[in-house]
Amino acid sequence: MNAPDNRHGVLYVVATPIGNLQDLSPRALQVLRDVALIAAEDTRHSKKLLTHFGIGTALLSLHEHNERDVTASVLQKLSAGMDIALVSDAGTPLISDPGFHLVRAARQAGVRVVPVPGPAALVAALSVAGLPTDRFCFEGFLSSKQTARRQRLQALADQRATLVFYESSHRILASVADMADIFGGDREATLARELTKTFETVLGGSLASLLVQLQSDSQQQKGEFVVMVHGAAPQAKSVVDAASEQVLTVLLSELPLKQAAALAAKITGLSRNALYERGLQLKE
Ligand code: SAM
Repeated sequence: MNAPDNRHGVLYVVATPIGNLQDLSPRALQVLRDVALIAAEDTRHSKKLLTHFGIGTALLSLHEHNERDVTASVLQKLSAGMDIALVSDAGTPLISDPGFHLVRAARQAGVRVVPVPGPAALVAALSVAGLPTDRFCFEGFLSSKQTARRQRLQALADQRATLVFYESSHRILASVADMADIFGGDREATLARELTKTFETVLGGSLASLLVQLQSDSQQQKGEFVVMVHGAAPQAKSVVDAASEQVLTVLLSELPLKQAAALAAKITGLSRNALYERGLQLKE
């Protein structure tokens, strides 16, 4: 990775609103006004935002299908000293949105990449979910194919951190049904829908109860969702693990059960009773 070169232009990664236009920060407004060019996921969509704020900066299309091709020409413009802003349709670019290839290539080319932070649906959702936020695992979108989706959920079943998913109206019901099935209906979750928009709704409860709410009210299936699921409860550790059982077995070959259990308890730190019980089973 090269150190930023001051002769290059700057690539600004600018977060835009996820619904409420008032969430565009004054700094984002200034940057979008001042740059020579804005690389946008959907130029027509971003044009509306810019028009709303009276910004006439030129736009260039950069979406998931052309990003690799467009990156080279954007880098050339940056090398020529142009300042460029990257925006996506909503929220923070690169968060389940295009921009990764451009940002990576720009950094490798020694271009200064500057964040202009603002809305991101996952952070807004976590901030109101009432679920632990000290550790969370952002999973983005699950697969649209049920087998792949269920496999992914299965792999996450023991994850202790809060799980965060993006979901669309088409699949919200199927995804929550799979989560209830795989994580268990009593696992706590929060559905954040249409944040910062007219129909903003934040529903909390068990996965089973959320599934019933979705099924019984089709309005609740509409819009954009962040699904957050409480992390798995700590696994009840097998009382006598394999290594401790080995210690107990060796001692049992030389000592009576009571003494073997007492000594094994001193060596392993496990409870003498648990080791005594296990010893009884081993002797049988
Ligand atoms: N880059 C965006 C961000 O920073 O959050 C995410 C873009 S991703 C293509 C779109 C998904 O984000 C939606 O399907 C939904 O899961 C989530 N999302 C975006 N806006 C939302 C909102 N207002 N309320 C709830 N979820 C939203």
